Amino acid sequence: MSASLNAAATAACAATAEVPACAEPLPVLGRDVTVPLVTGGEVTYAALDYAASAPALQRVWDDVAAYAPYYGSVHRGAGYLSQLSTDLFEQSRATVAEFLDCRAGDQVVFTRSTTDSLNLLAAVLPADCQVFVFETEHHASLLPWGDAQVTYLNAPRTPAEAVATLERALADRNPYGPALVCVTGASNVTGELWPVKELAAAAHAHGARIVLDAAQLAPHHPVSVRKLDVDWVAFSGHKLYAPFGSGVLAGRADWLQEAAPYLAGGGASRKVARREDGGVDVEWHTTAARHEAGSPNVIGVYSIASACRALNEAGFESLVARERHLIAKVREGLAEVPAVRVLSLFGDDAPRVGVISFVVDGWNSSHFAAALSAEYGIGVRDGLFCAHPLVRTLLGSEPQAQGECGAPEAAPGERSLNAIRVSFGAGT
Ligand code: PLP
Repeated sequence: MSASLNAAATAACAATAEVPACAEPLPVLGRDVTVPLVTGGEVTYAALDYAASAPALQRVWDDVAAYAPYYGSVHRGAGYLSQLSTDLFEQSRATVAEFLDCRAGDQVVFTRSTTDSLNLLAAVLPADCQVFVFETEHHASLLPWGDAQVTYLNAPRTPAEAVATLERALADRNPYGPALVCVTGASNVTGELWPVKELAAAAHAHGARIVLDAAQLAPHHPVSVRKLDVDWVAFSGHKLYAPFGSGVLAGRADWLQEAAPYLAGGGASRKVARREDGGVDVEWHTTAARHEAGSPNVIGVYSIASACRALNEAGFESLVARERHLIAKVREGLAEVPAVRVLSLFGDDAPRVGVISFVVDGWNSSHFAAALSAEYGIGVRDGLFCAHPLVRTLLGSEPQAQGECGAPEAAPGERSLNAIRVSFGAGT
């Protein structure tokens, strides 16, 4: 054990310390789990890896249990339970639309995750669509654009520079073709908030559309499609205190309706008939069902809706206030450790969610994170966080990727090639 490790563990644990009575943590699964320490004894596990997957809310678990007796197939059964399940499934769609403050006519498509949602959007882009994406994005936003002509924008060092960079790139684009901007709402590395409303205004001023990657934003802040004026929003259930395996793409219907289904199969097709020439004619649905072929993840969808209701009921105002307090405590604690360098693109004062990445002089980040777990029972993440170009910029080094999100090795005492991330939220 070293002084840096001890101090950083204390700072990380500040996230679980007492906070003002403005809000209690929401009950989550795994809250009272005890884990063994290599140094002997046991300790209550501190889950500080919400940015990877937040623990599911107890309330979501209870909702799913209450639904269990009525479990049935959706959209394909005549029986009572199937009808009920179908109703609950479609009510969940309405709940998500309300949670995101969607416009009339927007579609809510259920997917597997944010990655799946953005790949779905990539699959429905009109021909010749130009895509603009900052190099700082998570790989889920950076990589799905396939055949589209993609412009990767350099990392900005202020929110204003982000807007100016986008403005410049869009001014240079072919103004006659379709264009899409993809931007994160909150960074999964620094937690910093991006100027989504301003970027949306810039996109629209240049005839482009914009999709918001809200994977890290939606669990921490209200997301209003209408107020932000974004064309689509993508997020994942497992980061929004619901279990794994479900996600959402919500927004404008036109590109979704005009394109071929993301998955072809039953559920997406309204009518299928053999042609005289031996082929088949297919009439596809024009609703969200067009991109939801196959039997859906009913429990996942129901869980997302339950999490949306729980967050709304808890109230984002108090959740945000509480999280701000936790962020300040962790940052204060880390600032007391001279060896710690917190990673930031927009500077110390930038507004952020409860995601904080740092490196510790003289420590390999992977060893440091492993020691936090082994010696203190604190579960964090180390690595490049599926955002290699951003981490490269922040560390001023060339990460040597070992596996998609892996952690490259650095000899003890060498400059860190990866970072440590502490992340927390409504259950902390
Ligand atoms: N976007 C951001 C900002 C993320 O942090 C993540 C996951 O870490 C994703 C997208 C991808 O989410 P998922 O793995 O649920 O598809």
